[in-house]
Amino acid sequence: MKKPYVLIVEDEEAILEMISLNLHQNNFIPQRSINAEMAEQSLKNNKPDLILLDWMLPGMSGIDFLKRVRINSETKDIPVIMLTAKAEEDDKVRGLDVGADDYIAKPFSPKELIARIKAILRRNTPDLIPSEIVIGKLKINPDSHTVSYNENQIKLGPTEFKILYLFMTNNNRVLTREKIVNKIWGNETEIDSRTIDVHIKRLRASLKNNGLEETIETVRGSGYKLSESKYFE
Ligand code: CA
Repeated sequence: MKKPYVLIVEDEEAILEMISLNLHQNNFIPQRSINAEMAEQSLKNNKPDLILLDWMLPGMSGIDFLKRVRINSETKDIPVIMLTAKAEEDDKVRGLDVGADDYIAKPFSPKELIARIKAILRRNTPDLIPSEIVIGKLKINPDSHTVSYNENQIKLGPTEFKILYLFMTNNNRVLTREKIVNKIWGNETEIDSRTIDVHIKRLRASLKNNGLEETIETVRGSGYKLSESKYFE
């Protein structure tokens, strides 16, 4: 699989390094630029899959660079995430107005940055982002239909597999029984909530057999939730 190529335009060296390292660790190819002029040159040589663009740059500003990216037919469709220390709402609006796809205020966590990048690439170029989801030592891959914990395969029935995938894509969020039914069986079905409970029970049992206890919490009166903490131990 081709690694996504990300152009970073950031004049603060420590931040540039931090971003570059995190991109590298997450299987992206980072290209560093310390100003917009350097980034323009880089764009001529190689078209990135995404641009991370600082707002305040020496010389041409991030906003002016973004405008130029958007009027050039070669680069107008490249997704851009603005990075900025200016957390004011109107700046955000201005950035989105001239065509930024997203906006992250400094200081941000590398984890959040990577998550935002992946979210945008999933929409724009889904082929570049593997559909495997990894939470700690728990991995699920819908392409190969496999689940593993700590490198040990976990066997699940097709419905339990879908439910676990749903939980892992909605990590730490409560899923109501209704939502689970809609996502797994569709709106038209008349699956009653006890059916869900049976599948959840089976899923819990399979996970427990593989050393994952209490991973799916019952949220009283609401539904269920995948509790992340256990996987990080
Ligand atoms: Ca700056």
